[in-house]
Order: sequence, then C-alpha cells, then structure tokens
Amino acid sequence: MYQHLDLQGHPLPYAVGKVVCVGRSYKEHAAELNNPVPEQPLLFIKPSTSLVGLDTPLLLPRGLGAVHHELEVALLIGRRLCHTEPGHALEAVAGVGLALDLTLRDVQEQLKAKGHPWERAKAFDGSCPISPFALPEVLDDLQHLKFSLAINGQERQSGNTAMMLWSIGELLAEMSRCFTLNPGDVVLTGTPKGVAELKPNDRIEMQLDGQYRFEAKVAG
Ligand code: ZN
Repeated sequence: MYQHLDLQGHPLPYAVGKVVCVGRSYKEHAAELNNPVPEQPLLFIKPSTSLVGLDTPLLLPRGLGAVHHELEVALLIGRRLCHTEPGHALEAVAGVGLALDLTLRDVQEQLKAKGHPWERAKAFDGSCPISPFALPEVLDDLQHLKFSLAINGQERQSGNTAMMLWSIGELLAEMSRCFTLNPGDVVLTGTPKGVAELKPNDRIEMQLDGQYRFEAKVAG
C-alpha cells in the first residue's frame, strides 16, 4: 500500500488522498501537443489508487498505446484548503517532491476528439508514481524550483516553476475554489515540454532543486 514518505523513507502522518492536477500550465508543453494555452487552469483529478512509490518497478498498462511521462512538481497538502486566497495557500504545503503524471496518450487523443473525460487516460492504477517529500523549509523558493527528468541517462524534460502560467499560490487558490484540498491530498503543478513515451525496463532519474535525486525503473 502506498504511503506518503519523507526523504529518510519514514511514513508521513497524512492519510493518502486524491491528486489534483493541472493541464497546460507551461506554455511550451501546451504548444508541443498543439493545445491552446487555457484562460483558466485546466483541472483534473487522479484518485488515491493512482499513487505508487518509486521503490518497486512501475507497471504500465499494456495494449492501450503509448504511455507518456509528464514530470511535475508535487505538493503534499498538510492543512485543509477551501476557498483560500493565493497569499495564504502556500502555508498549507507540507512537502515538495516530484511525480510522473503518466498518461495513455493515444487513449487521451481519442477521448479528446470525442469530448469525453480523461480518466481512462490519466487516472488508472499506478498512474501517479511519486517521490518522497522534502520539507518546504529546506527549499529556497517554491516558485523558482528547477527540476528535470532523464531516461536511460538522457535528459528528456527540464523545467523551472518560475515558468508556470500561474503562480503556485494562484493555482492552489483556484483548485481550492473547485475542490476542498484535505491534508494528505497531493497537487501536481503541470509539466514542462519534452513529454515522451516510456518503454519496458527504462531507467528513470528525477532531480529536484539541484539537491535531490530520485530513481525508478519501468517493469520489464
Ligand atoms: Zn500533467
């Protein structure tokens, strides 16, 4: 069973909740999939069953087309947020890590074409592999976090939260106007450009803020 962990691998005292995500929060990623930049954040939710740790090989769905990695900064919510103002939202962040918003891209394209919801493409079991969480105090500035992803030693994605279309405070406030965020929920802040397909046995390496390195492997 997945549990939220700290950097030492100890369980954190938060129940595992939902994962609230934003699509197209980095302009260049919207462009690479030929999507317009949205006027308001495009929000969706992955269920708690999407969360998996990085310690066992990632099991990808089979026979449903390409599974893309989307590297995203993940925020662990430590305090209830409901109709919160942007200036106060950051106080609720209890941990910062990295996650992969795994996406069945071919399925998503079909759903988009029909105007159907994305859950089949985004919310499957194991669709949110996630790292342990660093305390926000040890990071300089949440709005200037560098992060990157390498697959089999080759860099695929790199980003900086300074490039987001909305600040993290604005994003959390907007989410909290649509869905109450509870302690133990996770927020994914969107992916920079460079999304691509994962293959069996791929070695995944993620780096956060130049200080933290997380590794995972795709099952064979
Ligand atoms: Zn995403």
